Amino acid sequence: MKYFVLTLGCQMNLSDSERLTTVFANMGFQRTDNEEEADILGIVACSVRQKAIDKVYSRIHLWNKWKKDRSLITFVTGCILDDDKKKFLKTFDLVFGTNDIAGLPEMISQYGIVSPGALMNHHGQKEFWDIDPSYDSNYEAFIPIQNGCDKFCTYCAVPYTRGREVSRPSSEILEELKKLVAAGYKSITLLGQNVNSYGLDKKGEEISFAQLLEEIGKIGDASDHPFWLYFTSPHPRDMTEDVLETMAKYSCLAKQIHLPLQSGDNEILKKMNRNHTLAEYKVIVDNIRRLLPGATLFTDIIVGFTEETDDNFENTRRAMEEIGYNMAYIATYSPRPGAVSSRWDDKVTMEEKKRRLHILSDVFIRSATRFNEDLVGQTVPVLVTGKSRDGKRWTGLTEGKINIHFTSGSELKVGEFSKVKVTENTGISLGGEYTS
Ligand code: SF4
Repeated sequence: MKYFVLTLGCQMNLSDSERLTTVFANMGFQRTDNEEEADILGIVACSVRQKAIDKVYSRIHLWNKWKKDRSLITFVTGCILDDDKKKFLKTFDLVFGTNDIAGLPEMISQYGIVSPGALMNHHGQKEFWDIDPSYDSNYEAFIPIQNGCDKFCTYCAVPYTRGREVSRPSSEILEELKKLVAAGYKSITLLGQNVNSYGLDKKGEEISFAQLLEEIGKIGDASDHPFWLYFTSPHPRDMTEDVLETMAKYSCLAKQIHLPLQSGDNEILKKMNRNHTLAEYKVIVDNIRRLLPGATLFTDIIVGFTEETDDNFENTRRAMEEIGYNMAYIATYSPRPGAVSSRWDDKVTMEEKKRRLHILSDVFIRSATRFNEDLVGQTVPVLVTGKSRDGKRWTGLTEGKINIHFTSGSELKVGEFSKVKVTENTGISLGGEYTS
């Protein structure tokens, strides 16, 4: 039997997919990238963007047509809003939450008997985390440490699709991490909608996020296998100083932080329900610069949020200039199905949103370039990730996740650390020469 899975959306869904692969492998099913030869066809869906939802409908429409000629089982899981769930139940054979992935063999054997009431509960969360994922890479891995979100940002539907925050037991996280380190994984990322609120749902019973990092730091110190540990995404509200202090203590805790700003305007931040002001965010940035000098800072920005005025936008532009990011993922605002803001007027035109996006891109490129200038002449550790398109140079990532293209006289191994002398600043990336 062969199965085909289409994974849409974010890194969290890709991580869910890795566990799905294991469940299928344990059932003796073979994966195929050719949906025409699959017996089981499924989608790990994303409700965040209408485009992703449209893709789900176009797929299932096609698969249901094929059903006239051959027997197939279709399923959908992932981030699904209640309204979509009801509609999917009419078109897919199986609809289930990611927490229920462990129950897939049973569902397939009794195919069709899944009731809507059994969907998206949290009883399966433990079983879900117990599944050993089949990692797509042999040097980079993601460990889910928490699922769901309690923050309710007005532009986001995650609290409605994935439910409230549930932290995974730290013993399991550390176990998974130890296995990855022993197997030689070099880039390991702790994953969650709100990674740094880890443990808050189990206060008194579970360790905090800073303590979790401390435990990982100790594992790194005691291991002969070097690795870089990242986490994404934290929420500014939970970015406490002890997290940064712990990062400063251990060399395996990579000095790179992705701290979503979304907007640099207090009025917009309030409308987004981010629950912090720009001044509070800047205090965290000051702490990062003080405790982790040289760390790279990434962010997410939404431009044109509902009624964002020129003045609101100017505050974001100024904030970005003052803070100075190494990378900014800037999105033009579009209403997300199921999110509170989808009921509000989306007044800024797409043309204006794009204009603002370009202005912010220029700002972040300037600050990234300034930062990179200081790296020229330094020899830095680099994780080799492949070869450039023309095959003449190698590609890699610095500890701060800056892309580097470099030459080497000898053959290198993808997924290993190398030392590279930075010779060139090419804007948001670097050029260099392999040294050892
Ligand atoms: S954007 Fe806000 S509501 Fe959505 S997952 Fe992140 S913190 Fe939670």
